[in-house]
Amino acid sequence: MQAKPQLYGLPAYKPGKPISEVKKELGLDKVIKLASNENPYGSSEKAKQAVIDAVMDSAIYPDGYSSVLRHKVADHLGVKEEQLIFGNGTDEVIQFLCRAFLSPTDNTVMADPTFSQYKLNAAIEGAEIREVPLTEAGDHNLDEMLNQIDEHTKIVWVCNPNNPSGNYIGKEAFMRFLSQVPEHVIVASDEAYIEYTIAEDYPDTISLLNQYKNLVILRTFSKAYGLASLRIGYGVAGSELIQVMEPLRPAFNTTAYAHAAAVAAIDDQEFVQKSSRKNREELEKFEAFCKEHDLFYYPSQTNFILIDFGIPGDEIFTYLLSKGYITRSGQALGFPTCIRISIGSEEENKGVIQAMQNLLDERTPGTKS
Ligand SMILES: *Cc1c(COP(=O)(O)O)cnc(C)c1O
Repeated sequence: MQAKPQLYGLPAYKPGKPISEVKKELGLDKVIKLASNENPYGSSEKAKQAVIDAVMDSAIYPDGYSSVLRHKVADHLGVKEEQLIFGNGTDEVIQFLCRAFLSPTDNTVMADPTFSQYKLNAAIEGAEIREVPLTEAGDHNLDEMLNQIDEHTKIVWVCNPNNPSGNYIGKEAFMRFLSQVPEHVIVASDEAYIEYTIAEDYPDTISLLNQYKNLVILRTFSKAYGLASLRIGYGVAGSELIQVMEPLRPAFNTTAYAHAAAVAAIDDQEFVQKSSRKNREELEKFEAFCKEHDLFYYPSQTNFILIDFGIPGDEIFTYLLSKGYITRSGQALGFPTCIRISIGSEEENKGVIQAMQNLLDERTPGTKS
């Protein structure tokens, strides 16, 4: 047997260790996961109740077109219903884009490091991948990304804010970039963390959709909305771009539970705002810790922070794990001396910051604070 040649050598997704397994392995009672940028405050109570209510109809296939949620999101964003496509997480919308637009004779341009799913799905389609290193400061190098675009380019990805650096692209830079990308190239703006952004000049991309038919915006319910387990995300674009992808969307790719929860979650903006406000408050504690210890950190507009300890990320990861905190080693993310920590609850953050303090104390004996 012979699969498509591009599949050989591709890595399978390595999920983080489940909490239960880490507990058993290390003999710890309490293990806290700050690795996947989930919402530490859970999700809206209304969303939870909506899932419970929907359980009674489990024997029935979900509405494949996500009509009720579609109506809700269209209304919430001020777009037409046919400008939306829903996926089993935004991950699936990324898959749709690659499947629809990329072939082995095409190329796609993205930052490096950035969210891993763009590269993986482009590789599966056999497309050439053009990665443009982030600047020293952790920003997209938009000018160089423009330089990499040619007549065979189909999609250029901007992760805004970027995972794993946390940096964002401001309105002015984004507009300049968008206006220079040729019309035949799709600009995918991944806004998974938009609810956490506080920058005044964060771009309002929805308002650009009428002018730019090659713009597609990706959003998710997995982060600030706290519905990661239900797997629901969407793409917004001109209806022409969206409609060409519809035939490759599996008929029942999103569940009735996800629809019900997301509809209720949109109605509870207070929960989202509270999560976002609290996140910023807690993020600032990590920033203060970094400043106090002269550690470089990337300026985050998200619910995670990437901190440079100047030692191998795996070492920091292993140390924090031994104290019961699961984080992400920068070595797996393209930042070899960094650790990426999701901002948790007040208590969780206090604990992991104390663990980082202990790590520093142990490495510089005699300077214990
Ligand atoms: C988490 C994340 C997503 C979306 O994840 P889904 O759970 O599949 O909706 C998309 N892009 C980025 C940059 C992310 O960090």
